[in-house]
Amino acid sequence: MKQIVLATNNNHKLSEFRQMCEPLGITILSLADLQLDVDVEETGSTFAENAAIKAEAIMQLTNLPVFADDSGLEVAALNGAPGVYSARYAGVHGDDTANNEKLLVALATVPPAQRQARFVCAIAYAKPHEATQIVEGTCDGVIALSLDGKTGFGYDPLFIPQGYNESFADLGSEIKNQVSHRAKALQKVKTLF
Ligand code: IMP
Repeated sequence: MKQIVLATNNNHKLSEFRQMCEPLGITILSLADLQLDVDVEETGSTFAENAAIKAEAIMQLTNLPVFADDSGLEVAALNGAPGVYSARYAGVHGDDTANNEKLLVALATVPPAQRQARFVCAIAYAKPHEATQIVEGTCDGVIALSLDGKTGFGYDPLFIPQGYNESFADLGSEIKNQVSHRAKALQKVKTLF
């Protein structure tokens, strides 16, 4: 089994990576597994830049191969917002409830036919003494009129992926992990080995 560190403090991302990497023969080590309590500042202006910043920072600290995921939601009617600011859209990093509330308010007058959105995920793979590699995956869908479902995290209760009538939070992890932006990026990770 290949062992790769995941540079995140987001337990939801960690469990999605673990579920999706196991069939690829990859064991994911968390920052907690390595007793690392670090929060890398995301100073980039793109998902790819932020993923590389996080992966390289943790690779320098551990001298191990590292994955980092930077991801977010782009809403067409909001010109691509919240984008790289998805985690802190409403001001406080990781306040999913406030972020979803703000998104619903921002789209209050936008009719169903104009609520297109996509999730984007950049995964950086950083290894000691090698150039960092980056892959990206996207998942198209629409923003629902109200919150629905109990699983997942972030904007999952509001995001209805193309081809489905329910939100990611309603569909559950099995379907999400087949069609999500993260799943598509991880499929491309296979080409890096
Ligand atoms: P990051 O930790 O800076 O990559 O922030 C990612 C943010 O984008 C999360 O806090 C969520 O708000 C949003 N996001 C990314 N991926 C997902 C997902 O799979 N479902 C729901 N929200 C997501």
